[in-house]
Amino acid sequence: MHHYDLIVAGGGPAGLTAALYARRAGRTVLVLEKAGIGGQSASSPRGENFPGLPAISGAELADRLYAQAEAAGAAIELEEVLEIRDGPVKTVVTDYSTYTCGAVILATGMTHRKLGLPGEDTLSGISFCAVCDGAFYTGRDTAVVGGGNTALQDALFLSELCRSVTVIHRRASFRGDPVLVEALQKRDNVAFRMESTVEALEGRNGALCALTLRHTATGEPSRLMVDGLFEAVGQQPEAPLARTLGVADADGFIPAGENCRTVLPWLFAAGDCRCKSVRQLTTACADGAVAALAACRP
Ligand code: NAP
Repeated sequence: MHHYDLIVAGGGPAGLTAALYARRAGRTVLVLEKAGIGGQSASSPRGENFPGLPAISGAELADRLYAQAEAAGAAIELEEVLEIRDGPVKTVVTDYSTYTCGAVILATGMTHRKLGLPGEDTLSGISFCAVCDGAFYTGRDTAVVGGGNTALQDALFLSELCRSVTVIHRRASFRGDPVLVEALQKRDNVAFRMESTVEALEGRNGALCALTLRHTATGEPSRLMVDGLFEAVGQQPEAPLARTLGVADADGFIPAGENCRTVLPWLFAAGDCRCKSVRQLTTACADGAVAALAACRP
């Protein structure tokens, strides 16, 4: 059984930064990622607020973080962590292997929230990732639901490909950055349906063909014909491990402070899974550095 000084659950910006810092502190480190290197941020079409990298896609940033951590000597495996056990050494069980280590960092990030509508899981034409699926809708009519930065970035990305993009948001103003809103307002093929919610999904032959919208103030319903709906209504923590270890709060976030320490002395939390007010690439990377240095402290 392989033993590492540190095991990091999650290969997003927080986890890969933690691995880099742990290697630079001379520790052996294994990063375990269940889905895709880079986490949720890898599907971001274009980031413009990572210092020093004025325009970079999430995928390219993920590649760079991976290459840097690997070059520093981190082991990185695509395996899902199923269980973490306490003991004189800690045991980490994955879907492929079992490892032991001295400390663990949970950098398990978040997953997309759903609208919870009938047909959401069965109709084709529903997506949670514009970068992954946008090309399927080239020249077609799409909608994006949500008012945060993900929705705004997705709409900008889709407007380059699609005949039309309708942004549907439940409030009168956006939560996302004004600079993205202004960029969208300049696009001829982008329309806005503010103060509107998606009430129902309409399918034809198993494929989405229309949305029923409702205006939140007037209650008036309307029908919007679309070929694709991109859902960007926020994230929820990836919480099973934290819950099993008894370190999650009621919402599934881990209440570790700025030092990233949990109530267990050998367990640290970094990135979006930690209770915090600002969830950005920069703060995820910062958490990774802090958690790794804390975990490496003798
Ligand atoms: P978010 O900021 O939480 O926004 C979620 C949006 O979905 C909100 O506008 C919310 O409406 C709406 N919403 C939530 N539940 C809904 C429902 N049931 N029906 C309809 N609308 C619903 O999520 P996000 O956009 O995924 O961003 C997550 C974090 O990542 C944020 O901190 C964001 O700044 C960050 N991020 C940063 C960048 C960047 O810096 N370039 C890019 C992407 C994401 P309300 O506004 O009414 O609550």
